[in-house]
This record gives sequence, structure tokens and C-alpha cells, in this order.
Amino acid sequence: MKPFKYINAKDAPAAVKLVSENPNARFLAGGTNLLDLMKENVEQPDEVIDITRIALTQIKATSAGVSIGGLGKNTDAANHPMIRQNYPLLTQAILAGASGQIRNMATNGGNLLQRTRCPYFYDVNMPCNKREPGSGCGALEGINRMHAIFGWSETCVAVFPSDMAIALAALDAVVKIQSPGGQEKSIPFADFHRLPGDTPEKDTNLGHGELITAIEIPKNNFAEHSYYLKVRDRASYAFALVSVAAALEMNGNVIKQARLAMGGVAHKPWRALKAEQMLVGKEPTEANFKLAADAEMAEAKPLEHNKFKVELGNRSIVLALQMAFNSDKS
Ligand SMILES: Cc1cc2nc3c(=O)[nH]c(=O)nc-3n(C[C@H](O)[C@H](O)[C@H](O)COP(=O)(O)OP(=O)(O)OC[C@H]3O[C@@H](n4cnc5c(N)ncnc54)[C@H](O)[C@@H]3O)c2cc1C
Ligand code: SF4
Repeated sequence: MKPFKYINAKDAPAAVKLVSENPNARFLAGGTNLLDLMKENVEQPDEVIDITRIALTQIKATSAGVSIGGLGKNTDAANHPMIRQNYPLLTQAILAGASGQIRNMATNGGNLLQRTRCPYFYDVNMPCNKREPGSGCGALEGINRMHAIFGWSETCVAVFPSDMAIALAALDAVVKIQSPGGQEKSIPFADFHRLPGDTPEKDTNLGHGELITAIEIPKNNFAEHSYYLKVRDRASYAFALVSVAAALEMNGNVIKQARLAMGGVAHKPWRALKAEQMLVGKEPTEANFKLAADAEMAEAKPLEHNKFKVELGNRSIVLALQMAFNSDKS
């Protein structure tokens, strides 16, 4: 690992100033991703700014919904009574990720900024446009079983690994940011993560030195009917092959609103908008869920080793919707 300078930031403005002034500086939150990347020489910061003592950890009700501190721990967000009661989809998604020990360290902001688990990205001896722009993509013609089926480009076929972010995408969350110079800004979740295009090195639209201070989720009526389904190779310590965050608002026996987001299928949380539109005004039957899944998955473009994800995605959408519809009965 390359030697680096460690600085403990006293508050958010100080942390933002320190990172924004040095292109090779990084914020250190829980460290569960950054430190691994540093040990593998994928990330080589010369300055690490510890933000763990900054008090941006509160979870509080707002007039619009709820605000979750960017530096709060994943465990605390998942277990907070307000989140469990009003946003059970988020609780389920967080608890589907990593392990208890990692969730105790991992922060909410850090979770959104974790980097892809593409093995070629982690192996500094392999070409990878995300790690080293212009070097090529080892996965495009390589072992791409875990990779994208939506929105990929010739430069990168990686997927974004977070579970928490898939629920936040379905719930139309907003990321609150402190920028250098003291300005505060908000990025809607749909615009926060990026597709790879020609710049796969950029995972998000967050600028260097910008700090995630909070994540806001608007009020909704999805708590009664929501479910996070994660399909993976092992029951623990495994990232999603495919995941689906599903939420329904019912009006009698008709779907008034539907939210669906998928993980493990794209470079960003994949909002299944076609499927959502097809569900509105329909009865919550298996046949209607299947029509919605077919419409969404018809656009999938699998790679050589991940064709199975198309059928898996289709079945996962149907099952997640069934579980969401029946979740008030369990
Ligand atoms: C073995 C293992 C299994 C895992 N399994 C899963 C899984 O199944 N599902 C899942 O979703 N995740 C999984 N994870 C990933 C884990 O959830 C992330 O590593 C964690 O959420 C990152 O949070 P952190 O606070 O530790 O971030 P750090 O590692 O400290 O930081 C990550 C990045 O975010 C930046 N950063 C951190 N906080 C901020 C902020 N507030 N503002 C701006 N930049 C910031 C850092 O500079 C760094 O670039 C797993 C991790 C491990 C090690
Ligand atoms: S898929 Fe993306 S992260 Fe993986 S090798 Fe290709 S460029 Fe790198």
C-alpha cells in the first residue's frame, strides 16, 4: 500500500476544504470499501480525511418525509423504528447486504459510493477502463457472469453492487450534498449514479470534494406492500446476481402506484419504468406481474456469460411483486 497522510476532520466544512484542495485526497468513512481498494492498490490516495467524527448521523422526520444522516451507520438506518415502520423496503435492502459486522462500520454515504465488484477492476494486472481510462475492459470479452444486462457500453459492463441504493432508487430518495465553498445541493437519486458511456471512471455525478450529508426519502404509501428480493450465489457475504426492490400502493384491488428498481443488472440502480407503467390500474395478478416483467426484460442485452440473468430478472420481478403485494399478510 502506498504511504498516505491521515487527517481527522473536525467538521464538514473542514473535511470538504481538505479534500477539494487535493485531487489525490479521499474521505474516509467506515473504510470497508476504501481500505480494501487501497490494500489492492486500486485506490492510491496520498491524503485520507477521516470524517467519522462529524455529527451527520441523525435520522429525523421532516415535513417531506425522513432525513437519514450521510455519516450514520447502515445498521442504525436499518433498525431505526421510523425506517422500519414507514420504509420497510429500505430496512430489508440494507439487511440483505454484507454482514452484521460490516453494516456496523459502513456508513450511508459510503454505501452509495462503494465501487464495483468487477474482478478485473480489483486486479491491477488486468485492463480496466474504470480503474485506468483507455486501458480496455477485461470483462467485455472475459468472464462476465456477474456483469450488466442493461445500459452497458463497450468501455464498461460493470454493475453497481449496493443493495441499499436499490431501495433508495425505488423510493425516489434525494442525496443532499455539501460542496466546496459551502453551497448545499440536492441530487435526485435517478441522477446520482451514472451509466458508463465513455467515462466509466465516473460512477456518480458527485464532484471531487463534495460530501454526502444526508439522504432524504419522501413520504409515501408503500409501507404496507413492499419487498426487497436478493438472488445471490450464497446466503451471506455475496453480492446480488439480480435484486428487485418492489413497492405497491393499492386502491382496493387495483394498483394505484408501483415502484420497481433492480440491482445486479446495470452500472446504476435500474429503475424498471416500463414495468411500473404497465402495472398502474391493473389488478395484482401473477399474469399482470408477468406482463410487466416481460416488458422490462425485453430490453435486456446480456453478455456471453450472463444470459441467465434475463430469465432470472423476469422471475425475480414477478416474485418480488407477489411478495410485496402479500407483505401485509405475513
Ligand atoms: C465482504 C464484504 C461484503 C459486502 N457485501 C455487500 C452487499 O452484499 N451489499 C452491499 O450493498 N454492500 C456490500 N458490501 C459493501 C459495503 O456495504 C460498503 O463497503 C460500505 O457500505 C461502504 O461504506 P463505508 O462507510 O465503509 O465507505 P468507505 O469505504 O469509507 O468509503 C467508500 C467511498 O465513499 C467515499 N465517501 C464515504 N463517505 C462519503 C461521504 N459522506 N461523502 C462523500 N464521499 C464519501 C470515500 O471517499 C470512498 O471513496 C460489502 C463489503 C464487504 C467488505
Ligand atoms: S467492466 Fe468496467 S470495471 Fe470491469 S473491467 Fe471492464 S471497465 Fe473495468
